[in-house]
Amino acid sequence: KKRIAMNKMNNYINSVFVDEQDGLLEEVISSIKENGMPSISVSPSSGKLLTMLISISGAENVLEIGALGGYSGICLARGFGEEGTLTSLELKENYAELARNNLSKAGYGDQVSYITGSAVESLQQLVEEQKKFDFFFIDADKGNYENYLQYCIQLAEPGALIVSDNVLAGGSVIDETVKPKGYTETMREFNETVANHPRLESMLIPIGDGLTVSRVKK
Ligand code: SAM
Repeated sequence: KKRIAMNKMNNYINSVFVDEQDGLLEEVISSIKENGMPSISVSPSSGKLLTMLISISGAENVLEIGALGGYSGICLARGFGEEGTLTSLELKENYAELARNNLSKAGYGDQVSYITGSAVESLQQLVEEQKKFDFFFIDADKGNYENYLQYCIQLAEPGALIVSDNVLAGGSVIDETVKPKGYTETMREFNETVANHPRLESMLIPIGDGLTVSRVKK
């Protein structure tokens, strides 16, 4: 029997379920290219799911790890109301600057704050400040995913959601015929941790590059 390639499945899902005329997100993608930044924003389907998860859960204090140009930031902000806030951690000053501009253009300028520098250090600071969040999106350097997860659990309100991107590593975590990425093994281990963590209830959603969705148990 033939296997269905991941990108074929994603093309179908994007074509049926995602608005391809999303001018705002298209502008973000163009701005990322114009600034010579990598084209590694979340897939449109994952972005839409982020919006839906925020609105379904009613989350208002959102923490993102990995801003790039603000694509996922806009998707997250679209899910919350006027009371919502997004705190976004980004290593690079110029990336955070572009993300901030894009979020402002999208109308969320007053609801977003960026903390630049190493996310582990920023997370440690947030723990010391006893900050709490009800939604987390992990999408930065893969080698730190396990660390990010532990910090998110510490910073979580009971019942918070933690979503992590790229957990299928282009399909290489499940398909031995796909060329492995540098972080294939890292993601396999991360998925095992997320699936078996005593504080989490989790599932993997195989859209985009794969998302795990975890609920922090009360
Ligand atoms: N979430 C973004 C989106 O979908 O629009 C994409 C994020 S991109 C995949 C990963 C980002 O993580 C990059 O902007 C990169 O600069 C940032 N990053 C990498 N290492 C980091 C670190 N140690 N601390 C904070 N951010 C980091």
